[in-house]
Formats: sequence, C-alpha cells, structure tokens
Amino acid sequence: MPASFIGQFKSYLNCGQLNQARNLFDKIPNPNIYSSTLLISAYTKQNRPLDSIQLYQNLRKEKKLQPDNLLLLSITKACALLSDPIKAKEIHKDVIGFGFKSDLPLGNALIEMYGKCGLISEAQQLFDELPVKDVITWTSLILSYKNCKQFREGLGVFREMLISGPKLNSVTLLSVLAISSKLKSLKFGREIHCFVIRNGFEDNMFIGSGLVDIYSKCLITHDARIVFDGMRSKDVVSWNVILSAYSLNGDLDEALRLFDKMKVDGVLLNSASWNSMISGCVQNGRIERALQFFAQMQDSGTKPNHITIASILPACTGMESIRGGREIHGYVYRNAFIKDIIIDTGLVLMYAKCGDLNTSRLVFDQMPRKDIIAWNTMIVANSMHGCGKETLTLFDKMIESGIRPDAVTFSGVLSGCSHSQLVDKARQSFSSMEREYGLNPDADHYASMVDVLSRAGYLNEAYEFIQNMPVEPTPSAWGALLNGCKVYKNTELGKIAGEVLLDIEPQNPGNYLSLLNIFVGAKMYDDASRIRMLMNDRGIRKEPGCSWVQIKNKVYTFVKGDDRFAMRNEVYGFLKETRRKMRVEGYMPDTDIVLQDVDGEEKEEVLCSHSEKLAVAFAILNLDRGEVIRVFKNLRICGDCHGVISFMAKSIGVCITVRDSVRFHHFKDGSCSCKNLW
Ligand code: ZN
Ligand code: ZN
Repeated sequence: MPASFIGQFKSYLNCGQLNQARNLFDKIPNPNIYSSTLLISAYTKQNRPLDSIQLYQNLRKEKKLQPDNLLLLSITKACALLSDPIKAKEIHKDVIGFGFKSDLPLGNALIEMYGKCGLISEAQQLFDELPVKDVITWTSLILSYKNCKQFREGLGVFREMLISGPKLNSVTLLSVLAISSKLKSLKFGREIHCFVIRNGFEDNMFIGSGLVDIYSKCLITHDARIVFDGMRSKDVVSWNVILSAYSLNGDLDEALRLFDKMKVDGVLLNSASWNSMISGCVQNGRIERALQFFAQMQDSGTKPNHITIASILPACTGMESIRGGREIHGYVYRNAFIKDIIIDTGLVLMYAKCGDLNTSRLVFDQMPRKDIIAWNTMIVANSMHGCGKETLTLFDKMIESGIRPDAVTFSGVLSGCSHSQLVDKARQSFSSMEREYGLNPDADHYASMVDVLSRAGYLNEAYEFIQNMPVEPTPSAWGALLNGCKVYKNTELGKIAGEVLLDIEPQNPGNYLSLLNIFVGAKMYDDASRIRMLMNDRGIRKEPGCSWVQIKNKVYTFVKGDDRFAMRNEVYGFLKETRRKMRVEGYMPDTDIVLQDVDGEEKEEVLCSHSEKLAVAFAILNLDRGEVIRVFKNLRICGDCHGVISFMAKSIGVCITVRDSVRFHHFKDGSCSCKNLW
C-alpha cells in the first residue's frame, strides 16, 4: 500500500469520517492486518459494532485474513457492545483457533463480552480456565455477574477476591458499589464504606458518589448526606445522586434547597439534575411544581429528554394538569426525536384520563406503529368513557392488524361492554378468551362478567354466575352484584351480596352505604339502623366528597358541606332555582341516599351541598358559553347529582363531563353517556 494512501486513510479515521475511510479501504486488494484493525476499532469506538463484525467476517472469509490478538481484542469489544450471544461464541472459537487461549487482555475482554451477552456460566468458565489472572480479570467477572443481574454471586466473587485475589482498584470498588446499590444491602454498603476509608479511596469522587447512592437506596439519607458533605470534590453526578436521595425518600423540600444551592455554587446542571427534581415532584404528588420545573428546564437551555417526558406524562391525569399535558404534547410534537411508542401511548392515556377522548383517539390514529400496550390503552380509554361499541370495533381492528389480545385487552373489552350493556357481546368475548386465544379468565374477568350481568339487570343469573365461578369471587364481583341490586331495587339478593361484602371487605364504606340505601329504599328501617350501628362500631366513615373544576387556568376545589368558597350565595341561589325548575317539570329529587332521620326539606339541602353540584354550578356561572365543563370527583357521583347535572346540561345547553371514581359521565341534551346506569 502506498504511503500517501495510508496517510489519507488515517486522516479520515482521525476525523471520524468512517465511510470515506471504508471507500478507500475497499480499494486495497489485500488489506493488511494493521489497517484492518484500525478500521474495525474505529467502528467500535463510534458505536457501530455491527459494521465491525461484518467487516471482520468479510475479511476472514474473502481475504483469508489471519487475525492477531489485537484485532481479536477489538472485535471482542465490538461483540460486547452488540450483546449478541451467537457471535460471541464464534469469536471465542476464533480466539482458541488462532492460539490465543492464554492471552490475558483477550481473556479479560471475553469475560466482559460474555457478561454483556448474558452468558454468565461461559464467563465463569473462562475465568476458571485462565492460567494467570489480574485485577481486571476479577473485576470483569464481578461486572459480568452484575450485568446478568446475579448480584449476590457478584459479591461472592468480590469476597473471594479479598481473600485470594490481587489487590483491587477503584474500578473494582465501583462495580461492587453498583451491585450493593442494586441489592439495597446496607450491611454490605457499610462494609465497603469501611474498606474505602481503610484503603485510602476516600478522595475518589466516583466512589464517594457511589457511597452516597448506596445509603440513599437503603433509605439512610442522613448517612448519605454525611458522605456527600465530606467529599472534597463533587461533580454534577455527585450532586444528582444526593438530589435523588432526598426526592426519592420523600424529603422534597431538602432536594429543592440543594437544587438551589447547586445553582448558587455554579454547578453546571444537566438533564439528569432536572429529571431528578421532576420525578421527585411527581412521586411526592407535586404535579404543578413538576410542570414548573419542566418549563424552567427548557428556559435554561437543557433539553428535556425521553426520561423527562416519560416521568412527567403519566402524572398529568388530574384536573390541574390538563394544560400541562397539552404543553408536553406540544414539546413532543416540536421535538420529534423524543417521540416513540411509549411516549405516544402515554399521550393517549393522558388525554383519555383528562376527559378528552377525541384527542386521545387522534394521537392513537397517528401512531406509526402500535403494540399491544397501545391497543390496550385505547380500548381501556374507550371503556372508561362508556364507549362499549367502540371497544369492540377496536378489538376487531387489533386482531386484523395481527396482534394477539392478552388478559388486559379482555378486561378492557368486558368493562366496555358492561358500561354499555352489551350483554351478548360480553358473553361471546368472555367465552372466546379460552376457546380462541387460550387465555384463562382470571378473577377480574369473572368479576367483569358479574358486572355486565348486574348492570343489565340479570341479577339472578349474576348471582348464579358468582356461585359457579371456578375462582374465589373478589369483593369487586360481589360489589358489582350489590350495585345492580341497588339500581334494580332487588332487596333479597342485595342483602345476600351486602352481608358477604361486610364480611370480606369490612373497611369499604361504599358497601355499607349501598346496603343502607337498599334497606332505606325498601323501608326496612330495622335493618338500616343495624347497618348504621355496625358502621359506628367498626369506625367506618365515609370519605368526604370532593370535586375539582378548572376555570381559566385556575383549579377550584369544592368539599361537601364546606361553605367557604367564592360566590357561595350565587351558587346556592342557582342550585335552588334549578331545583325549582326541575320540580315544575316534574322531576323528583333522589333522596334515598340521605339518612332517613333527616326530614324532607333538609334532605334536599344536604343534597344541594354535594361537591359535584357545587362545582358544576360554579363552572356554569363562570364559564364562557360553548366550552365543555370538566369536573373531577373523588367518589362515585350520587343519583341525585347525576339527575340535577343532567338537567343543567340540557337547560343551559352545555356539555358537562364528570369523572368520578369509576368512570366518565358525558352529559349532553339531558342524557348521560352512562345511560343512567353506573
Ligand atoms: Zn350528589
Ligand atoms: Zn352518567
């Protein structure tokens, strides 16, 4: 090869222009081992392991190239990057075949490669067979156990190394620290901490950060902080570790203080710093603050990445975060590099949970590729919104696209059928689970079938179904029957289901209330007072009803019976006037749920103070016409509120969406998407 040629070739490699270098390389009739090794290791360095390996295989086959130990070392590293177990074994064979079985650097690299490919027994065997071992050999084996998630075995190798191996170095310590962090083993963490102090590794910044991480994973924030404060030098990684120590352990305030200190100290924040704060806020329920961080992160010039979006998006399901969710959608749209199937699915779920099924569907339809999770999300979304027929259509389309349904798919379809009273479809779907798809229905599927039958009024059949199911009926199965009995006023079966529930789910106030409701409705006052006494004795209290509504970017909260809200008099006046209009048109208030020792007029007053009514009335008084009113409630919407809100939607001419603890209700023109059965 002429000298000018090789000069040009090398300068391409140095500039990272590998394609040009390859063009040149391909013109050489018989490339020597030196230039081959240069090109192969350049590919590996640029994270193109497949190109490395293909080139190597070509050279071996067509040019009959005889590799030396350096070339094999380079190709072993490529294979570790690729994590391909079949190629790994081929390369190992070459190493033996060309006589490098006892080469120490090669042996070390092969151990690491096997670990990355998940072949831990091969790694161990290689280790055992190497005639001479150095600190890298031992460390590679420890790392291999870590990569194969066999953490305890990795620590075992470390202990053996302390007894009979060479002196360890900081890389060994770092890999053992990483293992202890995975194991969350405080005992071992302390052992290593002592070792670090005794052997003078204290000033190593990476080891210091590793120790902070262990104490934090073991929830000992105090010790994590002592190590952190004692570190002589810290980089952004050390700071991020202590940040997540506090935010993961629930001390968000201290994390916020440290975050401010980072800025004051001039630490260059990276995306992991921001992500740590954002996920800390999300985990501590501070969604609004998380969204602020998301905005500040962008202002500061740090680009939110995939992790940022994936941690914040699932949190945007509350009233206050619809706007935040839209902003994230906007960001994803503008920065297409982040877009992937997980983020898209997150958007589908976010819009559905925030009550905007149309946009949810739009995002779903535009997804270039849909996996089972995406399909299931769209099916569940439709069932949440009471669109049972659509869940069935989606199911068919999913099958058409070649995706096999799983247990979650059927849960979605069955619950969709039950909310839309598609009894026959539900029966077909349920029986096809096993027959066509080989899936055994679990307790939840059986409970869904009880729900389907109960909502449609087939109460006897539902009861029979419960008695004959091959799995232990869950509280939700009995709860579905009880609820059906409440709606269809079947006292006899209601009593049976209710008594079972008081036994197997004694802490759920809803069971007592439903049963109470049934007894009061049937004028069985003795039974009713027995239930009330039981509630008292067991200390069961109903969680106070609470509703949220957003008006012009501000979220208003209404708690049942709480009178300290803005426009109190206007809201009550409006509700009273609505009630009067309803009476004129012949509607009767649904006062069943109120305890019977309150008299007629008082009952209505108690009903008027329900949080969802207050929230809707407040929204109507404050909203621009044409907008959709969205109210979220923590409990199930009550029968009376359902009737009144339905009436308001019609008389004012607005669309009202209420998300209660079970599903969405879309009120329009005097009727609800749940068809008054929920
Ligand atoms: Zn109510
Ligand atoms: Zn409804």
